[in-house]
Amino acid sequence: MNLETVIEKHALKNAIDHDGKANAKAVFPKVISEFPEVKNQVKEVMQKIELILKNVNKLGDGDQKIKLLKIDPSMLEKRKPEIKELKLENVQGKVVMRYAPNPNAGMHIGNARAALLNDFFVKKYGGKFILRYDDTDPKNENKKPNKQAYKQIENDLNWLGVEISEIQYASKRLGKYYTIFEELIKKSKAYICTCESEEWKDLRRTGAACTCRSNSIYENKRKWNMMLFGDFKQGTAVARLKTDMKFRDPAQRDWVCFRIVNKPNHPITKNKHTVWPLLDFASAVDDHDFGVTHILRGQDLVISERRQNWLYSYLHWNYPLVITYGHMGVEGAGTFSKSLMSKGITKKKYSGWNDPQLPMITSYARRGFHPESIKKMIIEIGLTGGKINISEDMLSSYNKKIIDHDAKRYFFVKNHQRHLMKDVNQEITVPNHPTNPTLGERKINVKGKVYISKDDVQFLKKTVDCRLIDFANVKLVKKGELKLSTRQEIKKEMQKIQWVSSGEKCEVINKEKVVKGLVEESVLKEKIGTVMQFVRYGFVRLDKKKPLTFVFAHK
Ligand SMILES: [Zn+2]
Repeated sequence: MNLETVIEKHALKNAIDHDGKANAKAVFPKVISEFPEVKNQVKEVMQKIELILKNVNKLGDGDQKIKLLKIDPSMLEKRKPEIKELKLENVQGKVVMRYAPNPNAGMHIGNARAALLNDFFVKKYGGKFILRYDDTDPKNENKKPNKQAYKQIENDLNWLGVEISEIQYASKRLGKYYTIFEELIKKSKAYICTCESEEWKDLRRTGAACTCRSNSIYENKRKWNMMLFGDFKQGTAVARLKTDMKFRDPAQRDWVCFRIVNKPNHPITKNKHTVWPLLDFASAVDDHDFGVTHILRGQDLVISERRQNWLYSYLHWNYPLVITYGHMGVEGAGTFSKSLMSKGITKKKYSGWNDPQLPMITSYARRGFHPESIKKMIIEIGLTGGKINISEDMLSSYNKKIIDHDAKRYFFVKNHQRHLMKDVNQEITVPNHPTNPTLGERKINVKGKVYISKDDVQFLKKTVDCRLIDFANVKLVKKGELKLSTRQEIKKEMQKIQWVSSGEKCEVINKEKVVKGLVEESVLKEKIGTVMQFVRYGFVRLDKKKPLTFVFAHK
């Protein structure tokens, strides 16, 4: 962490603790205790502090917290009692909550937020977590459910530690939806509309009703049965809920409950049904039927509640309590659009759904993220109503705190280049972790040569000592050859160079880049899936042994 960041960190903390306004005199000693080398530059440091303070004090409380979370989340943990407790209103006994993904792909980190928050409340209050597959849109190519995605979503949820109490498939409940719709026809609250779609939209715009709206219950029942028996072609008839054609919000005027999809080729029900409910209808029925007590919903879906309220009032049902939350952007995490991801996979831009460039849960798992890091971050962000922007760096800092203590260190150099060390033949012992002795140590033989990164070759000099980390001070003899220096004491200003004595060629996949290098051979005894740190490079996960491949997590 550089001086500016340390100042910003303490300024943010001080501001959060003092109604959003940080005090330079209070920040100064904190900075000095962390950065003692500047303690004699009081004036310069104070100037820097004051400059940074100006910007920090301009931010609102929420932004200050988000910024501090990005720099050092532990600074906020220390004042946990003041983080607003995540709770639900109106809990009577147990809660029933649902997570309702469309199984067109596995989960990305935005989906994980919804799932983890639901899981959090179910565990907090006791109750049920229902996984409800919202799989009733076989028409739209981008949204069409696919068989592997069902299993993938369950795997993702299991990996995240979400406890699923019950699994429901909307596509298996079409009969139930039909029954409810027939009830609405009988109440004269629904009708079959055979108008041409553009024509109907024109009517909606002006608030006028089409002629179908005044058809008799009998006529509607007849046409509904025609729909079910396949007597209408796709696009020639829809089933509508009767709301109010003059209602101020046009999106709520007589909305569509069912439409016809020819040859849906649905992964579960194949071509058994051609009349499919729209999301708002199916989820409204299910929430009632499953006894859902609380719904967490993205702000972009507020319209659903408004539409569904018509149906709930016609059927005398009680709407669950809805808690809306704002959109979460994740800077540096790639696209959240599953159709873009899918296109990228087809075009080989991504190797698959677990490509490290993607913000999918499987991608994070493959990179060696611990599920707890995602969970902790999501729960600490909580249910903010507004739009929030976090970054992948923030997630990385949560993860680092979790994995660092148990991640063994290994030597790795990228773009390795051999250097002879003719006079050397020795065995050295290095710890597997700088501060965790339980991880043990390992022996490394250095015999006649070392490999260092091409990037570090520039530092090697004939006249100046460099430090081969954990090994020895060396000087350049000539291009491609080193020798041990006569002086072996380690000095602060010395250039430190990572090295490998003899190793295995490997690749590290770092998002869109593939870095080639050499890793010490003892890594081969690790199991696939092990998360470790390549010293001075970053945390990686062993992805496969043939060819030896690692996936980069973060610094
Ligand atoms: Zn009509």
